[in-house]
Amino acid sequence: MTNMFKEAKRRNRVFQELLLRICDQRPPVYDSGPDIILWKHAQDDYQKTFSTRATWEQVRVKREKVDWSDVVWFKQAVPQFSFITWLAIKNRLSTGDHMRMWGVQQDCMLCGEKNETRDHLFFACPYSYMVWVTVTGALLGTLITPDWTDTMERLQRDRVATMDKVLAKMAFQTTIYHIWRERNARRHGKTWIQMAQLAHQIDKTMRNIISSLIYRFGSRLEGLMRRWFEVTT
Ligand SMILES: [Zn+2]
Repeated sequence: MTNMFKEAKRRNRVFQELLLRICDQRPPVYDSGPDIILWKHAQDDYQKTFSTRATWEQVRVKREKVDWSDVVWFKQAVPQFSFITWLAIKNRLSTGDHMRMWGVQQDCMLCGEKNETRDHLFFACPYSYMVWVTVTGALLGTLITPDWTDTMERLQRDRVATMDKVLAKMAFQTTIYHIWRERNARRHGKTWIQMAQLAHQIDKTMRNIISSLIYRFGSRLEGLMRRWFEVTT
């Protein structure tokens, strides 16, 4: 059965269910007064005001919280970087191993390795590993590793100091974003950026992010900048 027919059948079933529910309702009584619009906020909780949050809570499919969620979504994160990181964690970036299914041969644009995978790019690739070490070497110390699974596990560890953990997660997302952008730029024939220069760009982006956080949330976040200077200069 094609997808189109499956979809038509599903819609028909949804429509039938809807019709049954409408027929189940008692018809409106004129004497009860005019109709008013109420928005469902929760089970048996109807109000006159609309709430995006309450509506989203009701329509979304709730699943168990995944253990990596704090690495992707946290207060200091940049949404654009979180999104690329989320794609990387779900292994949905169009790396060479995925592109092979479409008949495209894609070697690693950063080092020439034949098998470009998510785990290779972050950070088994010599180029990206050197960038990662340059950016976070002093912050992570012995916790630094080229292995994807180990990196994810270490970013989630509780025994790392809170401020360092926030900085490590921010640096992780910023590095993933910049490496993926550099990989795509090279693929599209743009000028190549050398390792040291990319690491410098990531450091600069980190400083800009922290500055804007201080601007938004106040001087209590100045410690974040102080610590970042400590581990990068
Ligand atoms: Zn590589």
